[in-house]
Amino acid sequence: MSDTDKDVGATIEAVAQAIIAHADELTELDSAIGDGDHGHNMKRGMLAVLDDLEVLSAKPWDEALKAAGMQLVMKVGGASGPLYGTLFMTLGKTLDTPPTRAGLVAAFDAAIEAVMARGKAHAGQKTMLDVVVPVAAALKEGKGPAEIAAVAADACAATRDMLATKGRASFLGERSIGHIDPGARSSQIIIEAIAARFGDVK
Ligand code: ADP
Ligand code: MG
Repeated sequence: MSDTDKDVGATIEAVAQAIIAHADELTELDSAIGDGDHGHNMKRGMLAVLDDLEVLSAKPWDEALKAAGMQLVMKVGGASGPLYGTLFMTLGKTLDTPPTRAGLVAAFDAAIEAVMARGKAHAGQKTMLDVVVPVAAALKEGKGPAEIAAVAADACAATRDMLATKGRASFLGERSIGHIDPGARSSQIIIEAIAARFGDVK
């Protein structure tokens, strides 16, 4: 990791811009198996995060992620707002500045536990958890950023054949099969943006 890679502000900016760039695609995915607002919701939250970027950039990793998580809770709305907010706020509870591999593993585990508790969900239900859970496992196994991005891409693609049993898509029953889950795709976009910034975290 170079010093610029360790910059929390630049990392948050990259995540926000990646989501904003894919907002229409996320909304399209949510139109197929939800109510068509996921891209719009996420874009609104990430624009609020970008508005705060200068303040966030001056903070250490833990405080910056907590602040970004609070913005997402307030601005994203829907099912995903509180869940992504919880994810980022919990990631921000323990991370060192700069983050270490062990610190990231522990923070990711805690964040996923918190998201599962908040949404009363687990992996296998065609949600964002179907991306973040295998990513956490890959991180724990010591995989590098490119491999982790590939795990996220495969995990996202695998939601296409899954039956939704949580969230709005579950109302469709069997008709939820054959479509990628919008939250899984937004999680993949976020992981890809982070992986692209991180060198091998020691
Ligand atoms: P809403 O469904 O309220 O319109 P969004 O469209 O913003 O909210 O987000 C939908 C995404 O949220 C889904 O694609 C799914 O990945 C995720 N999601 C919904 N409910 C849960 C849950 N209980 N646990 C984890 N993720 C969930
Ligand atoms: Mg929706």
